[in-house]
Amino acid sequence: MTTRVRFAPSPTGYLHIGSARTALFNYLYARNTGGKFLLRIEDTDLARSTEESTQSILQGLEWLGFAPDEEIVFQSNNADKHRETAKKLLAEGKAYRDFTPKTEPTDANVKDAIKERARANQGEKNMRDNPFRELSAEESEARAAAGEPFAIRLKVPVEGKTSFEDQVYGLQEREYAETEDLVLLRSDGHPLYNLAVVCDDIEMAITHVIRGQDHLTNTHKQILIYEALGVAPPTFAHLPLIMAPSKGKLSKRKHGEVVSMTTYRDAGFLAEAFRNFLALLGWSAGEEQEIYSLDELVAKFSLEGIHRSNAVFNFSPDDPRKWTDDKAQWMNAEYIRTMPLDKLIEHVKPELKSAKLWRDEYEDDDRAWFERTIDVIRARFFTLKDFSNQGRAYFSEDFDFDPAAIEKNLNKFPDLKTWLPELADRFETEFETLPYTEENIETVVKAFTEEKGTKLGVIMNGSRTLLTGVAVGPSMLSVFEVIGLEKTCLRLRSQIVWNTASDQKNGTD
Ligand code: GLU
Repeated sequence: MTTRVRFAPSPTGYLHIGSARTALFNYLYARNTGGKFLLRIEDTDLARSTEESTQSILQGLEWLGFAPDEEIVFQSNNADKHRETAKKLLAEGKAYRDFTPKTEPTDANVKDAIKERARANQGEKNMRDNPFRELSAEESEARAAAGEPFAIRLKVPVEGKTSFEDQVYGLQEREYAETEDLVLLRSDGHPLYNLAVVCDDIEMAITHVIRGQDHLTNTHKQILIYEALGVAPPTFAHLPLIMAPSKGKLSKRKHGEVVSMTTYRDAGFLAEAFRNFLALLGWSAGEEQEIYSLDELVAKFSLEGIHRSNAVFNFSPDDPRKWTDDKAQWMNAEYIRTMPLDKLIEHVKPELKSAKLWRDEYEDDDRAWFERTIDVIRARFFTLKDFSNQGRAYFSEDFDFDPAAIEKNLNKFPDLKTWLPELADRFETEFETLPYTEENIETVVKAFTEEKGTKLGVIMNGSRTLLTGVAVGPSMLSVFEVIGLEKTCLRLRSQIVWNTASDQKNGTD
């Protein structure tokens, strides 16, 4: 039997981390077992579903690279089938009409009513005390024929329990007595969630349902529907929750954009790195390794590797430097540092384009220089955005200077104000004949440093700040080399920073 799994998001908001991880695990399981990965948009909550959310979810999935193997199913298109199923259960006496004149008998207010009754009965619940449960078929038909509105409820048996072997959490059991006679169809004919899911999972021949642990209670209800329909339920695997660092549940409402997939795409994360990060949120192959290609994840993924304990998404909402999980950032940096240069350049190009730093020569006459530069600067970068922010000085004369770097690397050594232009003169003389290579640059800078009786670090750090505007970066010898002789000399001679620095000083005095 071919494995068939589905990712079934409700389009009531953007694709968030938890859903993306559910999609990933379904995808990996399908690929690992040679099965099919399907997508069903659960758009039956008409009041909350939006086209915009559907689009945002589809974009998020596209970014992550999870294309469904069959046509996308929109749950709302199946409403007639859901209604037929409810009516079939009614005809078979497995469901009943509830004529209780309620405004909207939604699951939520049924729950409230049950809680209310339980309170009145000092904690003793009787889920089977709906007076319409035992109404005779004749009377039920007659009242319906007379036009009285009704909801259809499942007639949950009195004795027994639902039980299933969860692939993550083990044996799950629940007495029938603990589950209310759930509403299948509202009095306005609207099919409710649990009925819709079961009907569609049967229709789509789903073999494994892999979804968040917050659906455990629904699973018991859904099994009751499978039992009533006489259909064997699929295998279930529930995923641990993803918690905020405070250990509260990670939520769209409280954690806003931090949990949205598009935030990561727009912040310059690589889909392959983020996928790798998501895979380890609640799953492991039982080894130290953390960096996995998609093929490796597919090969190693198993339901047994899913953890029971909740995963934590570690970010500090109040600290902008730690706006997202440390590990996610580390992993992204790791991918940027190690991925094939050609592939990285495919991602860097649109980034430079949108920052207006791209020149077509980078693909043509300056290709070799461009590749070398990207290779040099990627060593210290975390996201694709860094190429256009911190990396700006490599592609444009118009870059910013970090005041802290000016203070630390230039102002503290006033001699540099004359030394660095002198170094520029030296470069011009020496490199008239010598090739401008890291090795030769090192010899020239060392000799210059000795003449001045200073430390190599002073010259190097001062140069770094004048050449790139910042205090840290890749090896300074490669920085000199990729910035090129002409621009290096121009920047070493630039007095703008010194003037700004003394202006700032005057201002504070
Ligand atoms: N639509 C549900 C949700 O977004 C998931 C339903 C399911 O996976 O069965 O949480």
